[in-house]
Amino acid sequence: MIMFGDERLPERVWDKINKTDSCWLWRGAISRGGYGKATSHKDAHRFVYETLIGSIPEGLEIDHLCRIRHCVNPSHMEPVTRRINVLRGKSPPAQQAKQTHCYRDHKLAGSNLILNNGSRVCRECKNEYQRKRLASNRESINEQRRLRYEINRTPLRDRERRQKARKRYATTHGYTKGPYERRLP
Ligand SMILES: [Zn+2]
Ligand SMILES: [Zn+2]
Repeated sequence: MIMFGDERLPERVWDKINKTDSCWLWRGAISRGGYGKATSHKDAHRFVYETLIGSIPEGLEIDHLCRIRHCVNPSHMEPVTRRINVLRGKSPPAQQAKQTHCYRDHKLAGSNLILNNGSRVCRECKNEYQRKRLASNRESINEQRRLRYEINRTPLRDRERRQKARKRYATTHGYTKGPYERRLP
């Protein structure tokens, strides 16, 4: 068991590591791939591993068992072949092949599993998605109706106003076409 703060690593390196409940997160530079960088040529996790555990056999890659690439906790690392690393990694086919539950933790088996062109879909999540889409669709339909109603209502109100004005004019003047109506927009 390697302890955090092991003196085989210099203090300045420990200063660059943020210890969480399980991971040791690199606070220094992070490469574009998401790995911590000890120097411009050295990945931080490899540096920590090599210092605290030992050299990484030629040709092997470090697999982060915790799936956090900038974690430098050597007990979260395992040197593996490229093939195994890819299989274990996040490449969609590998990821999906070993998936037993969807990301919302529904079991991907039996009637809840939909096989779609080789990809595995959770029925519960799919239904939920469709429900949401329908609901939002309904909202937009309602919104469109409301807008159409508003548009139709405005000229109607105007027409009603004109009719009332005409009626009023007719009752006071005895005929329907008058100056008031001409003044109306
Ligand atoms: Zn970790
Ligand atoms: Zn699901």
